[in-house]
Amino acid sequence: MDKENENLQKEVQEIQNIYEQIDVSPEMEKNPVSLLEHPEQSLRKKSIYDMTYEQMEDWAVSKGWKKFRIQQIYNWLYKSRVDSFEEMTNLSKETRKALSEEFEFTPLELVRQQIAKDGTRKFLFRTEDGALLESVMMVFDYGNSVCVSSQVGCNMGCAFCASGLTKKSRNLKASEMVAQVMAIQKELDRSNERVSHIVVMGTGEPFDNYENVMNFLKTVNHDRGLAIGSRHITISTCGVVPKIYEFADGHYQYNLAVSLHAPNNRLRDSLMPINKAYPLEELMKAIDYYTKENNRRLTFEYILLNGVNNSVEDAKELARLLRPYNCYVNLIPYNSVDEHGFRPVNREEAMKFYDILKKEKIAVTIRKEHGSDIDAACGQLRIKEMRKGRK
Ligand code: SAH
Repeated sequence: MDKENENLQKEVQEIQNIYEQIDVSPEMEKNPVSLLEHPEQSLRKKSIYDMTYEQMEDWAVSKGWKKFRIQQIYNWLYKSRVDSFEEMTNLSKETRKALSEEFEFTPLELVRQQIAKDGTRKFLFRTEDGALLESVMMVFDYGNSVCVSSQVGCNMGCAFCASGLTKKSRNLKASEMVAQVMAIQKELDRSNERVSHIVVMGTGEPFDNYENVMNFLKTVNHDRGLAIGSRHITISTCGVVPKIYEFADGHYQYNLAVSLHAPNNRLRDSLMPINKAYPLEELMKAIDYYTKENNRRLTFEYILLNGVNNSVEDAKELARLLRPYNCYVNLIPYNSVDEHGFRPVNREEAMKFYDILKKEKIAVTIRKEHGSDIDAACGQLRIKEMRKGRK
C-alpha cells in the first residue's frame, strides 16, 4: 500500500511538472489567447461547425442565396455527416466552391480512443493549435451520453479536480465542441447508434465560455442539426452567479446542474474558490430565481470526499440548505487523481449519507461509476498523452 502511495505521489509530481512545462508556458501565462491572435491562426478559415443554423442563413442571404440551401447543407453536415464539401453532391459546383473558400471542416484530430468493459469510451482530441482535450461517452439504458469539454484547462481551481491543475489556456470554440460530438457520432454510426444525450461536464467551466457553449448547444439541439432534445442536454456550472441569471432569463429547456460539494461557506470556500466570489447566499438566490422563472427542477452535484464533506452533520446541514428549493441531489463517487489526498467514500458510507438526505425528504440519487478501468477521471488521458510527448 505504501509503495502504491509512493508511486502515486511520484506520478502526481510528474504530472505537475508536465503541466508546468507544457501547458502553461510563461508566454501563455502572460497572454493566454496569444495563439489565437497569431496572424497565421487568424488567417485560418472558420470551421463550418462554428455556424449555427441562423448564422448560416444570414450568411446565405449575404451571398444572395435562398435560405433553403442551408437546409441542404445542414442535412449533409449533420444527417449524412460528410467530411468534405465535395461530398455535398446535390449542391452546384459554385456553391461548394463558395463554401470551401470560406469554411473548412473539423478543427479536431482524433488522437486516441479507449473503450471500457462497461462500454464507456474516452476520446482524446488535438486542436489546430496543438491543445489536447477529452470527451467521454457513457452508455446508459436510456441512451448514449457524451460529456463535452468546454475549455482547454480550467481557471476555477476546485481543490479536488484534475482539470483545474492546468490553468485555462483558452475557451473552446463552438466548432470544437460540435466536433467532439460529431467525431463520437461518426464512431457510433458504424453500429447504427446515436448520441442521445449531452452533458457539458468535461474540462472547463461552461459559464466562463457562455456564448460559444450556447451556440454549440443550438447546433446539436437544432432539428436540422443533430436533433438532440433540450431535455437530454445538461450544463454543469460551479456557480458563476451572473450567468445563472442570464441562463434563467434565456428560458432554455436544457437542464442545469450546479456543483455544490459543501453545505456551508466555510467548507465550500476551502474546496471551491468560486465560492469566495459568489457565496452560498448569492448562489441560492440565483437558483431560486432560475427554478421559479423556468418552473424547472435543478440538480445539485455533491462529490463525497471521505472525512471532508460526508459527516452526518454535513448531510443534515445540506438538507436544511436545500429544503426550500425545487431540486435534487446527485451524489458523485470521487475519482482519486489529485495530490491533495482526497479519498473517495465506500458504498456503505455513501449509503449512509444518502439515507440521511432521504429521511430529510431531499430527492437524491447516487451516480454510478463509469469506465473505471480506463482512466475514469477527467483529464487523465490528456495527461498521459502529454507525458508521452515529453519522452
Ligand atoms: N466546471 C463545471 C463542469 C465541469 S466539472 C462544474 O464545476 O460543474 C463536472 C463535475 O465533475 C463537477 O461537479 C465537478 O465538481 C466534478 N468533478 C471534478 N473532479 C472530479 C473527480 N475527481 N471525481 C468526481 N467528480 C469530479
